[in-house]
Amino acid sequence: MTSVVIEEIPDRVTLAVEISNCQGNCLGCHSPFLREDIGEELTPADVDKMIADNFGVNCFLLLGEGKDLEALLGIARHVREAHPGIDVALYSGREDVDDSIWEAFDYVKVGPYIPSAGPLNNPTTNQRLYRISRGQGRAGAEDITSRFWRRGIDPGWGPE
Ligand code: SF4
Repeated sequence: MTSVVIEEIPDRVTLAVEISNCQGNCLGCHSPFLREDIGEELTPADVDKMIADNFGVNCFLLLGEGKDLEALLGIARHVREAHPGIDVALYSGREDVDDSIWEAFDYVKVGPYIPSAGPLNNPTTNQRLYRISRGQGRAGAEDITSRFWRRGIDPGWGPE
């Protein structure tokens, strides 16, 4: 499923795509169907069409990282190469992600959903959203989670 959202990534108009085969194991999983092997493989041509159909978006967000790291990195590379004005973002349910992901994405959200800690817009949340300076990887990651608290916004996709 795809949707245009404005709250998942601060200051971006974001096209969000759900990715199945979730590796997470969140206690309060809100989308158990995303832990299954469902849907169709996301291809560069699919990405191009989605972006063409949603003029004005400036961020492409993968909601989930699936189980195929190379395919995930390939999509991130394609967005950067074919759509230079568009940032690429990932919401992961894991505590941490591979170095290659920190290098390939402009935004990364990490951390499982823990009901007692709350989602990104709750100051007690364990989840973190990072903005990454291109070319710097993990070393260039800035924690911008507090942007959700100042603005009091509610990431529409829920706890992940
Ligand atoms: S990351 Fe999302 S889909 Fe995966 S287990 Fe956690 S809440 Fe469920």
